[in-house]
Amino acid sequence: MRTMRLVCSVFAMFLFAGVNAQENNGEGQEPQRQEGHINENKFRQLYQIFSTPNQYRAASGAPGPAYYQNQADYKMDIVLDDENTRLDGEEVITYHNNSPEELSYLWVQLDQNIRKKDAPALEKDPSGMTPVSTPGRFVSQYLEEPFDGGFNIEEVSRNGQPLDYTINETMMRIDLSEPLKSGDNYTFTIKWWYNINNHVTNRARSGYEYFPEDDNRAYVIAQFFPRMAVYNDVEGWQNMQFWGSGEFALPFGDYEVNITVPADHIMEATGELQNRKQVYSREMMNRYEQAKKSYDEPVMIVTQEEAEKAEQGKTSKTKTWTYKADMVRDFAFSTSRKFLLDMMAVDVMGKDVMAVSVYPKEGNPLWEQWSTRAVASTLKSYSNYTFQYPYHKAVSVHAKNQGMEYPMICWNYGRPDENGEYSDRVKFGMISVIIHEVGHNYFPMIVNSDERQWGWMDEGLNTFTQFLAEQKFAEEYPEAITPLEEYPSRRGIPSKIIPYMKGNQQFIAPIMSNPEQVHQLGNNAYGKPATALNILRETVMGRELFDYAYATYAQRWMFKHPTPEDFFRTMEDASGVDLDWFWNGWFYGTDNVDIGIEQVQKLFVTDKPTEKAVEFLRSQGISNPDDIDALYVVEEGGEGFEESMKGKSVLENAPSLKEYLMDNFSEEERRNLKAPKYFYQIVFEKPGGLVMPLIVEYEYADGTAEKVTYPAQIWRKNDDRVSKAIATDKEIVKITIDPDLETADVDLSNNVWPETETKNQFEQFKENAE
Ligand SMILES: [Zn+2]
Repeated sequence: MRTMRLVCSVFAMFLFAGVNAQENNGEGQEPQRQEGHINENKFRQLYQIFSTPNQYRAASGAPGPAYYQNQADYKMDIVLDDENTRLDGEEVITYHNNSPEELSYLWVQLDQNIRKKDAPALEKDPSGMTPVSTPGRFVSQYLEEPFDGGFNIEEVSRNGQPLDYTINETMMRIDLSEPLKSGDNYTFTIKWWYNINNHVTNRARSGYEYFPEDDNRAYVIAQFFPRMAVYNDVEGWQNMQFWGSGEFALPFGDYEVNITVPADHIMEATGELQNRKQVYSREMMNRYEQAKKSYDEPVMIVTQEEAEKAEQGKTSKTKTWTYKADMVRDFAFSTSRKFLLDMMAVDVMGKDVMAVSVYPKEGNPLWEQWSTRAVASTLKSYSNYTFQYPYHKAVSVHAKNQGMEYPMICWNYGRPDENGEYSDRVKFGMISVIIHEVGHNYFPMIVNSDERQWGWMDEGLNTFTQFLAEQKFAEEYPEAITPLEEYPSRRGIPSKIIPYMKGNQQFIAPIMSNPEQVHQLGNNAYGKPATALNILRETVMGRELFDYAYATYAQRWMFKHPTPEDFFRTMEDASGVDLDWFWNGWFYGTDNVDIGIEQVQKLFVTDKPTEKAVEFLRSQGISNPDDIDALYVVEEGGEGFEESMKGKSVLENAPSLKEYLMDNFSEEERRNLKAPKYFYQIVFEKPGGLVMPLIVEYEYADGTAEKVTYPAQIWRKNDDRVSKAIATDKEIVKITIDPDLETADVDLSNNVWPETETKNQFEQFKENAE
């Protein structure tokens, strides 16, 4: 037994000789620090990086036993002055302090102040004349005075008494005369107005579009009222200024909102319409009742003919629309006399929800056909991956160049030309943006992450779920994608992120970056995290484990405020897959994936000692090889190799192995042994910094192929290169790394062996990927 153990270790050392540079110290050399591999410990647990779990946020990733969140309820009266494009509001806020702390001041967000003439956000970027500019950009940069759209705060009071407040750009601190105790609430009033901007020429998430042909406006109004900031266990007050890219952090609350607009307007908004009978015509009411029972196609509540008629006149009368919404984190509305309106009922896991679309005639024929259907499909597919949609409706509003989300309502682009014609790009752009923005109801409207701090937590998760939902949409409406076979998703497919990952490294920031501090927000907060999650689902965890953990995260944090760690921890806690290496590489780093084949050796096993082996044995204190039973590995064409070895089984090439088997194994045991004819040693290299499972396809001379996935852990002790010895009874003719292009490998030129044979084909793949 003793000798056999030695034989095994010799065998192993020979097989792996030359693989691990550290073991390859030549004789007579002084031990010295070797160049090359630096151990970054990529599989370490992220204790130093993650915040420490506590009573508010548990180590499992779930809300802890002391988790709390504050609430802000609003009662608002809003008046739109269409003629003067001005919005006036009076709001009564009731703020509930559920935190264990006393609050001596409250922070209120004044996002509209980013539209002040002298807002610092206007000067936040260095500027230079570019060789090419659009007329719109040129006019706004060099010809126009900045628009004056900041808040005019007319009153901040409580019970009729003015309150002390301090405005710091987009934030307002209200100083309380008595601290607001834990468990108490505080009611106060703010009166304000501002000038509404043109969101098309003065690029913004909110404002109006002007239609010169009929002298009308379509309004999409959001971030329009002073909103409470979030106070929590992570940030204290989240009062980071609004600079434009980092979006919103908002507490949940109940809303009662009256909005007064011209009487000929059609409106949609966050919340349940309370006075439908007063604001709808009898005809509209009848159609609405029909729509509630129409599950297959949308019912027109306001037709194009009616909308075209409405846009010809202008009434001086007004109408007030009243909405109520519970447990929403924001409120937005859209209104115009130009609007068509359609609705359809959708069964979301046994619950009826209304899918709704609002659009000017300029959106047709595209909008009438696809908007409401896309809304309905999204509610079904997202609910399937997360939780049942809790609200009673989801509205898609058509607004030029917009893609913006609010609770129950969102703004979406996608407009045919003046003749009603549109390209595939416009059509799929429109369907995708609707799926995306409706999807935002889940992230961050309900799973209420802090967008001001973490863009990827809503955009990345949402873009990933959008990718899944696009496939479901194509299954539901195959006619929408004909003649394509698959939905043309823009993000989520691994190959699509390659140009970013291997591009100018100066522009790449970790996903865990604030949205204000990245060069390419689209790639950083949308594309890369969506791709990472797709790879996690398909390649690392598998769909079953991933989907369960993902739904667990969504359900744990539904109507709550999660942090990145809550997501990372839940994904691991619910799946039993150690993912610290994955988060570390994909979310905290800027490395990319590049795995290749460095070397393939064909080996033979013999029992005749080679000179190299004799030398090695001597260094181990064995002077005569005959003293031990040993097997020796030789390389094809190398020392000790004989042509006659080819095609023979290992027992034929090494008769002493046969003797050993005869001595130690029963006949039955011997029958069950394998008889490999081919031995290979493959050295896999990893020039890319990211750790990934090693996916290898072996193709054999008999035409068969086999895909083997070695776990990412194969890289845990050597981040540069690893080798695998393969014993097989079939000759390997081709080896391909990542044959299905599922890891976003940035350099495919080293993915195939033998190199020359297939490089061109892969170069082509590579180009397609770009
Ligand atoms: Zn988004």
